[in-house]
Amino acid sequence: MRGKLVVGNWKMNGGLAANAGLLSELIAGWKPGPGRQIAVCVPYPYLAQVAAALASSPIAWGAQDVSEHASGAYTGEVSAAMLAEFGCRYAIVGHSERRQYYGDTDAVVAAKAVATLASGLTPIVCVGETLAERDARVTESVVLRQLDAVLAGAGADAAKLVVAYEPVWAIGTGRTASPAEAQVVHAVLRTRLARAGAAQVSLLYGGSVKPDNATALFAMADIDGGLIGGASLKAGEFLAIARA
Ligand code: PEP
Repeated sequence: MRGKLVVGNWKMNGGLAANAGLLSELIAGWKPGPGRQIAVCVPYPYLAQVAAALASSPIAWGAQDVSEHASGAYTGEVSAAMLAEFGCRYAIVGHSERRQYYGDTDAVVAAKAVATLASGLTPIVCVGETLAERDARVTESVVLRQLDAVLAGAGADAAKLVVAYEPVWAIGTGRTASPAEAQVVHAVLRTRLARAGAAQVSLLYGGSVKPDNATALFAMADIDGGLIGGASLKAGEFLAIARA
């Protein structure tokens, strides 16, 4: 069911001591309400630390990527089954930084989502257009192409996805889509998800979400929470966004 979900994407940040401080502030400060959840997606080496720290808290955790393969000769890769052993609930797939810097195609992202589902984890599937694509007015076709690839792979499991709309031009730039701009794209995604029998999927917005813009974004009809990068590294900011 659609609830409010706010997920922190730590990206390649952190360290054992800094993580411990951040996690203890999150544990102390987070009071879950009905239908409200938060999670942190952390670099692989810190999964054991996060699993131990959050084990008896209501805060979930996950990884920022996953292999599309189950096992084998894929040096440097991490499988969904391995993530499951660390108690991960989520794996982000298709983040624009993976698409841009590591060549993750729509087909690869779909295969990663399918592998994640097969291990009982929830993929957080990121879709979003570049600035050039927005200027060329192809936002809708880009995000639907990205989503359709995953829906085709997920089949009946589509309802188990979380989807994050993250306009590439808003990630880490301080420039956010206006609530109305984001809602337009979320509504398009919701319609497509409904057609796949997955209308209740949580649809997150990501891209420079901060405490001062979260309330307006999350008030939109089809925005169910956020995927938060920079602001997830500061407990006070992340908690303020989660409470928005
Ligand atoms: C992200 O990394 O998914 C993200 C949205 O980053 P930021 O909040 O820093 O824009």
